[in-house]
Amino acid sequence: MKKRILVTGGAGFLGSHLCERLLNEGNEVISLDNYFTGSKENIVHLMDNPFFEVIRHDVTMPFFIEVDEIYNLACPASPVHYQYNAIKTIKTSVMGAINMLGLAKRVKAKILQASTSEVYGDPQVHPQTEEYWGHVNPIGIRSCYDEGKRCAESLFFSYHRQNNVRIKVMRIFNTYGPRMHPNDGRVISNFIVQALKDEDITIYGDGSQTRSFCYVDDLIDGMIKLMNTQDSFTGPVNVGNPNEFTIKQLAELVIKMTGSKSKLIYKPLPEDDPLQRQPDITLANKELNWQPSIELQTGLAKTIEYFKGIAFY
Ligand code: NAD
Ligand code: UDP
Repeated sequence: MKKRILVTGGAGFLGSHLCERLLNEGNEVISLDNYFTGSKENIVHLMDNPFFEVIRHDVTMPFFIEVDEIYNLACPASPVHYQYNAIKTIKTSVMGAINMLGLAKRVKAKILQASTSEVYGDPQVHPQTEEYWGHVNPIGIRSCYDEGKRCAESLFFSYHRQNNVRIKVMRIFNTYGPRMHPNDGRVISNFIVQALKDEDITIYGDGSQTRSFCYVDDLIDGMIKLMNTQDSFTGPVNVGNPNEFTIKQLAELVIKMTGSKSKLIYKPLPEDDPLQRQPDITLANKELNWQPSIELQTGLAKTIEYFKGIAFY
């Protein structure tokens, strides 16, 4: 049955892939975005579809629409961008969640929150399970994002308990792929762009910190599967690829795959940069019947092809 679905942050990296997938599945999709880090370029190929609508709006302001489902993705995700206006980032997470939950309550829509592995902060438990409460610096430079997302999770569960809103909370771990912005500032886009330009590859710290990278197609599969679980399943649930790499290993792999002449250079590690991160995906496996299938090399090859095809030089 055709559903009417609202995607906030629909013109962003993940949002644009989600809109595309939902349209391909035969749904009516509305993208809501203020284009802070997203771009119409990401969704222009969908605009011929009569079942796709595009709305310029800021989630910190109330919004009214009749929909069956809401995916709440609106929020800058890269540290560079979310720290650019920390107060706005908090407003986007918190007021955005309140506005979208209020809408979900009013129209009885099911609502999914794009939460993050950042709720675990610099984790003292490894790999991270959903039971772990996290280790977040509440006043550090990452706190606008981390605490904003933690408050949003709290709001989701409060609306669920108090108003029976049907919620799904997804803790997304580092995801990459085509349509990341070349100036996004996240590690994979930075390294690929630097390698393609034969510029120095900027490793922050000594490169021994780890991340586990999930390709966007796998992530979107998990997101839609989560939305389609029974109402009794709320999450939070980790979705990410457990294959863990050091940042130095990633840099070396990108240089090898691009055949670049770039050299590695070392810059100071940003404040509160988590030392390690790896999802425990046992719960996603059990409840969503989900696991990633795309290895880093395969996903990187597709992402490198994408960056070769866009003009950022
Ligand atoms: P992105 O920056 O590409 O997309 C975010 C989108 O939200 C952009 O289109 C931006 O313009 C829009 N936006 C920002 N503030 C807004 C506001 N106030 N009102 C309306 N729109 C607004 O980032 P992404 O990687 O696609 O991330 C999407 C979501 O997933 C975010 O909520 C992010 O926190 C979450 N997430 C992403 C990752 C990842 O690795 N990509 C990891 C964890 C969580
Ligand atoms: N990083 C890096 N060089 C860059 C960009 C990022 O070494 O040009 C490091 C960063 O310090 C962090 C890791 O790569 O340890 C992942 O950073 P990203 O901003 O992609 O995501 P997050 O820190 O939110 O996981």
